[in-house]
Amino acid sequence: MSDAVCDSLWRATAPAGPELTPLTGSQDVSVVIVGGGFTGLSAALHLARLGVSVAVVEAQEIGFGGSGRNVGLANAGVWLEPDQLDQALGPEAGRVMYDALAAAPDYVYGLIDEYKIECEAVRHGTLHAGVGKAGLAQLQRRYEQMKKRGAPVELLGASEAQLRIGSSKFNSALFDPRAGTIQPLAYARGLAHAAIKEGAKLYDYSPVDSILPCENGWQVKTNQGEVRAEKVILATNAYSEHGVRVQARKFVPIFYSQLATKPLNSEQLAKILPNKEGVWDTCTVMSSFRMDKQGRLVFGGMGGEGRVLSNWATQRVTEIFPVLNKIEWDYCWTGKIAYSEDHLPHCQQLQQGLYSVAGYSGRGIGPGTIMGKELAEWFTDQRDSLSVPTTLLRNIPLRELKRMFYEVGAHTYHYGQKAHALE
Ligand SMILES: Cc1cc2nc3c(=O)[nH]c(=O)nc-3n(C[C@H](O)[C@H](O)[C@H](O)COP(=O)(O)OP(=O)(O)OC[C@H]3O[C@@H](n4cnc5c(N)ncnc54)[C@H](O)[C@@H]3O)c2cc1C
Repeated sequence: MSDAVCDSLWRATAPAGPELTPLTGSQDVSVVIVGGGFTGLSAALHLARLGVSVAVVEAQEIGFGGSGRNVGLANAGVWLEPDQLDQALGPEAGRVMYDALAAAPDYVYGLIDEYKIECEAVRHGTLHAGVGKAGLAQLQRRYEQMKKRGAPVELLGASEAQLRIGSSKFNSALFDPRAGTIQPLAYARGLAHAAIKEGAKLYDYSPVDSILPCENGWQVKTNQGEVRAEKVILATNAYSEHGVRVQARKFVPIFYSQLATKPLNSEQLAKILPNKEGVWDTCTVMSSFRMDKQGRLVFGGMGGEGRVLSNWATQRVTEIFPVLNKIEWDYCWTGKIAYSEDHLPHCQQLQQGLYSVAGYSGRGIGPGTIMGKELAEWFTDQRDSLSVPTTLLRNIPLRELKRMFYEVGAHTYHYGQKAHALE
């Protein structure tokens, strides 16, 4: 599998985005945003709503990065367990971030309603599925910590979990009714339409080559044009390229691949996820699955190693869902996740008026949308601070080695599992 998105289910089924042109000529706005994913588009939408002149400059097409490639689980909170969040930030800052991101699905589904974004929005909750003793223990811990913070989660035992998922392979599941699934590229394109409607300017196929200080702020240049602004937001996360490539050194890029079946038949649809929750499991080398609107099963796993992953996925999906006796994959695609060192998103003020928001560590639909909104409110003095740490991240030492460690680990896991099952 390559890093291209040409075989992406999301790209094949998303409604069209707005017709854009590359940036040409020279102009002035108050805020320039580099990157047209959830973070940049949400920031543009909210800034424009607040009457701020704003331009988004995207290197490729809208949603080219993680926003157009992800699983589409619109979850509450961050990747870490709530107590780990408190340990990382301290109880007060931990609680601020927890509360802001616990409410993220409400905000995302609210925007989808408000702007009538067609993105297969289903809000039937998500299931974090337990595998083995360690998986069950992890879910019990998460359940207790989330309950203590008032989350309406339920810990399902084996029989209920198996019925809801349609598989005997899981011993438990943590159900979160606040969450749901979306078609992620359709959401990104819908945010782009909404931002334009509110007055933002968007440009595609305009890689930013340089960002230089100038009188009253910054000059953001592409090979065909330039925008000057008082403030710049780098919203390029794992896909930081061209003139902002240096940002990528602050994260370990982890590849995650997905495959989608042909639409299932009615017997299979009645058994597998009959209530259409989105699922991810507790395994260290994680997998995820969900249905799309056409009744396809979308299955994902860590790694971008092509044939091994698709061979493994075929075998793993057959084990999980024996009712799928013959699996044919219609689509497969890969995305890059930006893992920060503490697995938390950060806003960095790189210099006066120059900000970068990144490091969602695999949970960016809600957090990216909320960060865009909060940045807009912060810039217009409607809030004193953000809900995420505003710290300068250092470059990750031995980043390439760490990336290889994860990739080789996922590869070995998938290959080993396959070999084991064939014995
Ligand atoms: C495979 C996968 C599965 C995931 N699953 C989930 C999930 O189920 N739920 C969830 O909440 N999150 C998930 N995530 C995480 C989520 O997708 C990301 O956190 C989120 O999309 C980040 O959004 P963003 O706008 O910050 O960055 P991105 O969407 O990555 O956008 C960055 C953009 O910047 C552009 N860019 C880069 N350099 C330049 C430049 N020099 N000039 C101009 N533009 C530039 C890129 O082209 C890109 O479009 C997943 C991620 C991946 C990859």
